[in-house]
Amino acid sequence: MALHLTNTLGGKRELFQPLDSGHVRMYHCGPTVKEHMNVAKFRSYLLADVLRRWFEFTGYEVLQVMNITDVGHLNAFEEDAVEIAAGRTGLSAAELVEKEEKIFHEDRRALHIRDASRYPRAREHIDEMVTVIAGLEKQGCTYESGGNLYFDISKSPQFGRLAAKSLAELQKIAPAEGGRISQAKKRNPLDIDLWRTDVAHQIHWPSPWGRGFPGWHVECVAMSRKYLQSSFDIHTGTCENVFPHHECEIAQSEALSGKPLARYWLHTGPVTVDGQPLSRDNRNMVTVRQMRDAGFRGSVIRVALLSEHYRQPLDFGEACMDRARPKVNAILGFREYLLSAAGQWPAGAATRRPEPAAWIQETDAQVRSAMDDDLDYSRALDAVASRTQSLEPEHVGDARAALEALERWDRVLGIVA
Ligand SMILES: [Zn+2]
Repeated sequence: MALHLTNTLGGKRELFQPLDSGHVRMYHCGPTVKEHMNVAKFRSYLLADVLRRWFEFTGYEVLQVMNITDVGHLNAFEEDAVEIAAGRTGLSAAELVEKEEKIFHEDRRALHIRDASRYPRAREHIDEMVTVIAGLEKQGCTYESGGNLYFDISKSPQFGRLAAKSLAELQKIAPAEGGRISQAKKRNPLDIDLWRTDVAHQIHWPSPWGRGFPGWHVECVAMSRKYLQSSFDIHTGTCENVFPHHECEIAQSEALSGKPLARYWLHTGPVTVDGQPLSRDNRNMVTVRQMRDAGFRGSVIRVALLSEHYRQPLDFGEACMDRARPKVNAILGFREYLLSAAGQWPAGAATRRPEPAAWIQETDAQVRSAMDDDLDYSRALDAVASRTQSLEPEHVGDARAALEALERWDRVLGIVA
């Protein structure tokens, strides 16, 4: 079997076929560096990491881009979310985003999430965003109202396709994007903020429409075009990114290029904490930094966040960590045992290698079939963990072959590194 993925766009399982043979180009919505990233966000970064690991494992060359959002988004009261967060810490907006970006990378590495090819910062791509907006203006997709520039979604006949919802349904669930005052200036509440002329905020830039700053949804369009071209293979994010963020990215990008932005759209399912939805109202926005400060190892947090299929809901919390810990301990303990057993092998005895033991071949097949089955990493992980938990030493066979196998599986799952 070859890799099949469930595409949010259309909702079907599809055989993965790259645009360019042997190459995969992926874009992942990354952190907004105004605070520590919560476990639901990290779940989507882990999806991106395991995808990349599996593609590399199966011989693809991967170009992987994850944006860093360091430009303020406005809350419903037209306040800049980064400035508000900075105000609480006594830092400037620029100092806060620098500090939080560093923390994001520390937490990411603790969870064995490999470095992406690039982490472009929004603030360093304002020119590219202005170019995208000017292109949309030229296409006749924009209008100015009250000093701001908006994308007119009536120019995007398929708006709602990714979320599989009608415009009326979307209007009911649309957040007050960019604040209520801006909302009142739009012809249609679903129209997209492209440029806000506003100098009341700490960070603003010149543009053909006046000094101000870009809308959030422009950012990912501009940066994905720059590094991955206007059409690429895979775009990922959390289920909360589907609408409005990804729907708005598609509308802008496709109005500009006439081509599909991404062939496959993958989204992680919702995360609850001990049964409660992760939300500010529930005061349970658990962050990876909090978990690490509380003494949890990065590998255990990783396994806990990988413990359900990526599209399924995940209940994070004590019980989830309690299930993850023995899996990690079993794999690490088995590795220690193999390292010492392989070390006792006499020097020069490596010339004739026995056939891999049957349990290695079986586990290889289980890992491969789980991963090809819509990237079912939780099943692959359970196959490896249960094998290491149950295998009696007399059935291990050649320790070096077993060690190689464990390292092979870890290249995909990332428990050891
Ligand atoms: Zn994005």
